[in-house]
Amino acid sequence: MAEGQIVVTGASKGIGAAIAAELEGRGHPVVCLSRSGRGPAGRQIACDMTEEAAVAAAFAAIAAEGPVAGLVNNAGVHIGGPIAALSVESFEETMALNATAVMVAAREAYPHLRAGGGGTIVNIGSFFDKLGVPDNLAYCASKAAVAAMTRCMAVEWARDGIRALTVAPGYIETDLNRDYLAREKVRAWMRSRIPTGAPGRPEDVARLVAALFGEDIGFLTGETIYIDGAQGMNH
Ligand code: NDP
Repeated sequence: MAEGQIVVTGASKGIGAAIAAELEGRGHPVVCLSRSGRGPAGRQIACDMTEEAAVAAAFAAIAAEGPVAGLVNNAGVHIGGPIAALSVESFEETMALNATAVMVAAREAYPHLRAGGGGTIVNIGSFFDKLGVPDNLAYCASKAAVAAMTRCMAVEWARDGIRALTVAPGYIETDLNRDYLAREKVRAWMRSRIPTGAPGRPEDVARLVAALFGEDIGFLTGETIYIDGAQGMNH
């Protein structure tokens, strides 16, 4: 398995921060990217992932420090609301970070991964990628795009020694949904719909992602791995 820096986007809080901390705890050199430039581990760089030139500059700066062995495309946004009231601006804002930025970061990481003999790309999707969820058209579309792009990366870059995987969480309590999950009605619904009985924790996702970097399972690529307490299969 290639050795080098693992770049985590959206690492200032929530799932991304947990992933960065877990990776560093397992001995990986980590670079945290976010708009605020904060992060719990490694080196922190302020970078808006929707700014193409800033992303290219960040990867050039990272590669100047040493080899790049991995990328976790985690930064994401959720804008909900009924389709009848969905603006093009909200749709495009969602796609810009959740989909376009995933492509741009992977594209910018690619030559550095290849130069180091390969590596792993983990794109954070969502179990919404295979569901039709009211008030979630833009988010569902963006996460379906993540899974589709991952499959393309896996096929196109396999001979470069690069694996690409989607990790698709179910409900994980973070700032993204804390207010929603705090409602008692939602809590009761969660208990009835999530077979494990409660939302997951950022650390659950972080341990899965870190395991994918820790084991050389070269034949596993292109897949979407759901981590959702089996909610996505509970119909
Ligand atoms: P949070 O809102 O807690 O954190 C989002 C992170 O993304 C922050 O670090 C934020 O930092 C960063 N970020 C936001 N916009 C940008 C940007 N333009 N450029 C760079 N960084 C940015 O979200 P979660 O931790 O909950 O979500 C992380 C990922 O997991 C997302 O892709 C989300 O869709 C996915 N997910 C989350 C689920 C959940 O239930 N929480 C379920 C399924 C998937 P800063 O503000 O400093 O830029």
